[in-house]
Amino acid sequence: MDFSWIYKTVVRIEPFRWQNYALFTNGSILIRLPAQNYNGELESCSPFHSKRLTDLFPDLSHRISLKPFPSTKSLGIEPGSWLKECPKCKGAGKVAQCPECEGEGVVSWETAYHEYEATCQTCWGDKLLPGDSRAEQMECADCSGTGKSVWITPCQVYDSVISTFYAYHLSLLKGCKIQINGTEDQVYFVFDGGDGIVMKISLED
Ligand SMILES: [Zn+2]
Ligand SMILES: [Zn+2]
Repeated sequence: MDFSWIYKTVVRIEPFRWQNYALFTNGSILIRLPAQNYNGELESCSPFHSKRLTDLFPDLSHRISLKPFPSTKSLGIEPGSWLKECPKCKGAGKVAQCPECEGEGVVSWETAYHEYEATCQTCWGDKLLPGDSRAEQMECADCSGTGKSVWITPCQVYDSVISTFYAYHLSLLKGCKIQINGTEDQVYFVFDGGDGIVMKISLED
């Protein structure tokens, strides 16, 4: 089975090798597959991350309760409902260096006595502005030029609240089951070909 869509669509950060797994993570979701199930390139894993990952996965020698991941339809998910205008490029898909601070993010000026520096009031320290006709434009890296970005909206799956974006994609994984009574912060899932962890979101956010 081809899992490269997990990287391209869901995680969008190059996977790496951890123990005998191909590991995909962006901090909000973590998916691991036996390395032989993934054909693409794998980066190596730093000892720091390796230790953290060992702590993250639940001890599966304890019985944990899993239920079938509900269908998109029963969760009432509208595909694409998580896409909104990219805040970086304001939907333009292109950005340009801020002409006011020349991409420094700060402006400075001096008097006879002092030199001052302040956050640029045009880009608010962002260094880049949504496509500006006065400057050379480049593709917005935040949205890969699509002008849209993924927003976190809550989706209740049994006793956990996770991002609708991840809930949608987990429901597409064949044989996906999700843990009941996850920890306070995270919930474990398993599917045909791998398993993973997704961070819960709190409704106050
Ligand atoms: Zn953008
Ligand atoms: Zn600026």
